[in-house]
Amino acid sequence: MTPTVAMSEMSWVEYSRRIAVPGTLAIVPVGAIEQHGPHLPLNTDVILPTEIASEVARRINGIVAPAITYGYKSIQRSGGGNHFCGTASLDGNTLISVARDILRELARHGARRALLLNGHFENVYFLLEGADLAIRDLAAIGINNFQVITLTYWDFIVGDALTEVFPDGFQGWAVEHGAVMETSLMLHLFPKFVNMSLVPEQSPITSPPYDILPPAPDLTPPSGCLLSAAKASAAKGKLLLECVVSGIVAALIERTKQKPREQAARD
Ligand SMILES: [Zn+2]
Repeated sequence: MTPTVAMSEMSWVEYSRRIAVPGTLAIVPVGAIEQHGPHLPLNTDVILPTEIASEVARRINGIVAPAITYGYKSIQRSGGGNHFCGTASLDGNTLISVARDILRELARHGARRALLLNGHFENVYFLLEGADLAIRDLAAIGINNFQVITLTYWDFIVGDALTEVFPDGFQGWAVEHGAVMETSLMLHLFPKFVNMSLVPEQSPITSPPYDILPPAPDLTPPSGCLLSAAKASAAKGKLLLECVVSGIVAALIERTKQKPREQAARD
């Protein structure tokens, strides 16, 4: 049986042994509790990066920490807006602090390399700030070799996968909220949480080139979807998952000299 990669499933004794192995990557999935239309659950942005993180961790020497479940406020142009019932968000400072504290704790446990694997567009700069502050905190106590990589998983969907999943043309990630990409991944990984009969008809919205607060409800379709997910499928989800996971693994091997799991075990 392959050993678990989930930190939460390990005893502290096993975890302390595994995190101390040089080159081990601590991965923290980061999501949001956010409406994703009538057909997807509120934790879509949490469970997708968690699954991707687990698959990445299996292929390299990785351990997946429990996810940061809540994210920064939903923005209308990319997530429909923070005015929807069910969307439950953190202030920017809170998310920065949570990311900073968790990274510092992982470093205290012995990790020297961490990956914040993001699944919610609006989190990006708050995670970068949390990572920067954690590195500064650690340097102040003499830990100068702690490295953090941050990424948002769909940035790895490129090339053939993009044309296969969007044969009629790709509209951009901003309108992909609750649409073909996320719904396909959910159909592949968590079909029991998807109700395709509730997918709304929705042509891609055109957002103005500005944000307005408080949110203007007329800028978001009432369903919360910015584009229809009708063309989503489990087969597309399988393709997307492999594209994302292999892209992230390749980037880690190239940039951080992370080794594939079999090789790490031999060394
Ligand atoms: Zn999402």
